Formats: sequence, structure tokens, C-alpha cells
Amino acid sequence: MSEISTLGEFGLIDHLTKTIKLENSSTIKGVGDDAAILDYSGKDSRVLVTTDLLLEGIHFDLTYVPLKHLGYKAAMVNFSDIYAMNGMPKQITVSIGVSSRFQTEDLEELYDGIKLACERHKVDLVGGDTSASVTGLTISITCIGYGKEGKIVCRNGAKNTDIICVSGNLGAAYMGLQILEREKALFQNNNGEEGMQPDFAGKEYLLERQLKPEARRDIIEKLDKAGIVPTAMMDISDGLSSELLHICKESKVGCRVYEDKIPIDYETAVQAEEFNMNLVTAALNGGEDYELLFTVPLSSHEKINEIEGIKAIGYITADENEKVMVTRDGAEMTLKAQGWTGF
Ligand code: ADP
Ligand code: MG
Repeated sequence: MSEISTLGEFGLIDHLTKTIKLENSSTIKGVGDDAAILDYSGKDSRVLVTTDLLLEGIHFDLTYVPLKHLGYKAAMVNFSDIYAMNGMPKQITVSIGVSSRFQTEDLEELYDGIKLACERHKVDLVGGDTSASVTGLTISITCIGYGKEGKIVCRNGAKNTDIICVSGNLGAAYMGLQILEREKALFQNNNGEEGMQPDFAGKEYLLERQLKPEARRDIIEKLDKAGIVPTAMMDISDGLSSELLHICKESKVGCRVYEDKIPIDYETAVQAEEFNMNLVTAALNGGEDYELLFTVPLSSHEKINEIEGIKAIGYITADENEKVMVTRDGAEMTLKAQGWTGF
């Protein structure tokens, strides 16, 4: 292992960024000067910018999150925010605060994850900032992308009778987190005894959903191909219930969703049973799935049904006070925001 101090700040930046190849025509100049240079002069494009701050101990726990996964996820959640605007991510900057417990190899791992995410989503890493820290690891990523004028989707466009749709399935990332937390607690109760191996067999899917989320570029591309522009859209980071309430509030509408239509993976259901947890509560309130929640006009119903990986779960209503989930037995429940945050 090599101390970061042997490279120094500039040596470290160079070490981490020297292999980067720029892929996008909108990237004129990347790492190496006082600022990156981007060209977004296309007439029909708008620039989208989003940023995220991740603090050790608040947003991630390095006792069970490998650094490569952390880097991958940190980049991915930013891409997800750009996709949620119906845009395409193109550049990121990465700023890190690093305490002395980290070695050069640790940061290499972190950057391997970031670079892999960038490669998969054709995004250029164009800059950042680096500083020493006394409070563990801090990562802030800013993502820049574009959206076509007239096709950018905000949270406030949902209309009465629109269909509410979600991609993929919900609650899996939350279950993955519960498994990791359980193993951590077991490990600590055994005082970190030698030879104690966490029992993750058969849980790979749930762990992957927590540790290695995939931003849904594929859904944005499928919608575009089908000629569908959602009326409102968000990515699901805090749980379906909370995000749906955001769309209703911003759009000044209500909603009715159906419990039996909420997509839940079989493994999520098995795990909920093992933990004696209410499955629907996990699917409604579990965070970090990074799926897309969006609304489309009723006239797009058939087209939506034909797209794999998208499920209609209910519809928008005119009554702003109506935030209803219809349960399996036909009862009505009011949706509440129980999205979890670090606070
Ligand atoms: P400044 O003194 O202007 O802040 P730096 O010495 O911090 O410049 O950065 C030099 C170059 O390296 C810049 O292009 C900057 O964007 C880039 N850079 C700095 N830190 C990082 C990092 N952690 N990841 C990627 N690029 C970085
Ligand atoms: Mg700097």
C-alpha cells in the first residue's frame, strides 16, 4: 500500500485521471486546467446540472461498502437525476475529501468504480477537487448533461387521468441494506471474531440492488423510441410513496395507486418474510431503488403496456387531497411520506 503523501495532491490527481479518454463532442477540455471547457451550443439543447454530496457515516458505511461500489454508485445516482429529467448525462466532476486512513490504492478503487459507471453511460470525467479531511471520506459529484428543448420533463406536469408508471421493481435495495446491516450487527456482536464470514448466499440480487444500482438510461431510450414524453418524472431515491407525493404536490393533483400493481421482485418478497417485515411498506418506503416514476397521458396506455420493464400502477386524479393506495382487499389507505434520509 502506498501513502497518498508520497504522491502529493497533484501526483494523486494525475495518477487517478491520466487514463481518462474523452468520449463526448460536448467535452472540449477535461482535467488539467483551471476549468473544463464544454460546448452546449446546439440550438435545441438545454444544459442540465445536478450535484450530490456523500458523507461517510451518513450516506455510506465502509464496513460493508467496497470502495469500487461506492464510486460506481456515487456516479450512478447523479446520472439517474439527469435521466429523471429525460436528459442524457455527459460530464461529471468529482470532488473528494480524504482522511489519512486512506491509501492511494483505496482511491484507485473508488475511481475504478466511478470510471466504470462513466464508461457504461458514455460520460466524461472532466475535473474535480481534492482535499485532506479529518472526518473520513467525502465525495461530491456534479453531473452535467443535456435535454432537448420541449422534451425535458419536470415534476410539475402530471394531469388528471394520466397513468402513473414505474420502471423495474421496488424495495429490493432496501432489503439489500437490511441484510448488510444485519450481518454488520452479527459481526460486531461477535467482536469481529476471526473466520466469521457473512452469510450472503442466495442474496446476490438484493445486495447488488443496494450496492450497485443501475440508472435507467434504457427506459429513457425506450420511451424516446416509442415517441412518449412523460408529463412528469422523478427517480425513486427516497421511496415510491414520498416521490409520488412530490409529483402530486408540484403538479397540484391527486393520485390513486393499486397495491397489487406495485412491482416487487420475488426475492424481495422472500426476504421480507424472513425479516417479518411488511412487504408493501418496504416497497412504498424503501429508498435507493433508482427506478423511474413517471406519468403519461391516458392515450399512451397501449404503447406503455408494450414496453418491457414498465408497469402502470394507477392514475392521477384532479383532487389534490386524494393520495390513495387501494389495497388488495379493496380498502383505501392514505399515502404518507416515510422516505428515509440521513437526518
Ligand atoms: P485548482 O487549484 O484550480 O483547484 P487543482 O490543482 O485542484 O486546481 O486541480 C487541477 C486539475 O485537476 C483541475 O483540472 C481539476 O479539475 C482536476 N482535479 C482536481 N481534483 C480532482 C479529482 N479528485 N478528480 C478529478 N479531477 C480532479
Ligand atoms: Mg483544487
